[in-house]
Amino acid sequence: MTQILISEVGPRDGLQSIRSILPLEAKCAWVAAEYAAGVREIEVGSFVPAKLLPQLADTGDVVRFARTLPGLTVAVLVPNLEGAQAAVEAGAHKITVPVSVSETHSLRNIRRTHEQIVAETHAIAELIASLPEDRRPSLEGGLSTAFGCTLEGAVPADRVVALAEQLMRAGCDEVGLADTTGYANPTQIKSLVRRIRGAVGEHALNGLHLHNTRGLGLANVLAGLDVGISTFDSSLGGLGGCPFAPGASGNIVTEDLVFMLEAMGLKTGIKLEGLFAAREVLRKALPATDELYGFTPLAGLPLGFRQ
Ligand code: ZN
Repeated sequence: MTQILISEVGPRDGLQSIRSILPLEAKCAWVAAEYAAGVREIEVGSFVPAKLLPQLADTGDVVRFARTLPGLTVAVLVPNLEGAQAAVEAGAHKITVPVSVSETHSLRNIRRTHEQIVAETHAIAELIASLPEDRRPSLEGGLSTAFGCTLEGAVPADRVVALAEQLMRAGCDEVGLADTTGYANPTQIKSLVRRIRGAVGEHALNGLHLHNTRGLGLANVLAGLDVGISTFDSSLGGLGGCPFAPGASGNIVTEDLVFMLEAMGLKTGIKLEGLFAAREVLRKALPATDELYGFTPLAGLPLGFRQ
């Protein structure tokens, strides 16, 4: 039986996409409910300046709480060395540096060229290497807009490969591929995963971060499984929605993803009833105007479905 790791990213990707600011207690209750359901990796926030993303201003406190849950990998996003220092101080286990393969997107979002981001990633890797071994978080280079960009359109695979190689040379433990804009299709997923692995090695690419903007999220997961991907990011209730496609979830929905994988006989370690309970915790914490998505929570589990 193959074990698949689900990395819940709702507390970061979901919350940064909605206007509501969840109080710290609500975030902790949400994280705890997912942990109780069996989720073992959660991206709990992002260390960005509070004036840019007030929704995530208390990420340090969420990390400190999440670290009290045994066996949970506490992941965060950091855009720069300062963020990495804060992440290390709080005790995050995993740090992802997002790098937009589209340089136009990168310049517009964080006003940085690829060269500058690779240099910053190198500085973060050096900071990590200077820590005692048991305090070193793992470092991932998150290649966003890897399958296409709303500003540039198609993104050449050669450019993704080159950036993946640079990030590994800068000291990342692995790279991940993100379909930030929901442009990817299953054929493209397979070919890009193969190409990146061919360039940086089989074990340096394990995770996909997929969005369901055009309804292809789970189809893209299947394509990823076919080429050996074992970690998938998703968001409870698809929180965050998609600014480009009203009515569509943003990230793929954790509940639907877990249902598909478990129904296929793969193991996630996550109980669906537990996820439904976590969804209730989140629903109660959010204003009614913030939508949650997903088919499985609404339809319920098929008769006789056992976990
Ligand atoms: Zn995303």
